[in-house]
Amino acid sequence: MLLTFDLDGVVMKNPFSTGVFPEVTRRIGEKTGLSHQQILEPIIAEARSRMALGKMVDAYNWDEIVSLVARRLGFTEPIDIAALVRRFSVPGHIYVYPEVPETLEFLRSVNHNLVVLTNGFRKYQLPVLQALGVADFFDAIFTPEVSGTAKPHREFFLQPQKRYPGPHIHVGDMIIHDIMGANQVGATSVWVCHDLPPSVAALPIRERTSHAQMEELVSRGIQRDLNASDYSGLTIASCMPGFVIRSFGELVDVVGMLTQC
Ligand SMILES: [Mg+2]
Repeated sequence: MLLTFDLDGVVMKNPFSTGVFPEVTRRIGEKTGLSHQQILEPIIAEARSRMALGKMVDAYNWDEIVSLVARRLGFTEPIDIAALVRRFSVPGHIYVYPEVPETLEFLRSVNHNLVVLTNGFRKYQLPVLQALGVADFFDAIFTPEVSGTAKPHREFFLQPQKRYPGPHIHVGDMIIHDIMGANQVGATSVWVCHDLPPSVAALPIRERTSHAQMEELVSRGIQRDLNASDYSGLTIASCMPGFVIRSFGELVDVVGMLTQC
């Protein structure tokens, strides 16, 4: 079976929020007198505007986005974002989510194909996976700058399907990018929701998505998307996950159920 994985919020925490962006705004701030927020806001706005224009690869090109915004703010020194990612890929700035290494190790041992499907460029994501010691569990890594597309677009999900034909499970934490994206290509979507309400989490895994609270949870998940308004045709049904889990280790039960039937 093919299992594709979102990384951020599922497998790992990356160093952008605590290391990379604070360092970028510190450097630019020293020269321009602008605050962290005054520098970060236009950086995020530039990424969102690229997404809104459908430039799905450019929207994740942080080296290009940061250098463009820095120049607009009057800062002309080069900033190497990939180098900063490597520098901050240390404890305190990155971590692997609980139960991830042992779960990946188990799934690999029973011969599933484990594939990364992330909107982060390879040069930003691989150093983090390597520093956390989990890079070698994966058979392949699909990223926007290589694939020419990104989540939630169908084409991005179809590329690993073509390479590894057969049943496909996608695991992610973002409702539009991961769940709607996977649903539209016939993959079984698994939503990792770390703050799943106890009333839903108490149910057996196969019954959770029938819980009355799920529509509200999915609706809130849609709103959390940076550019939710760009996806006007969305319905709750198209964004309803096949399964919802609160910890990575529960994935073993989901895969078990799907392999039996
Ligand atoms: Mg994510």
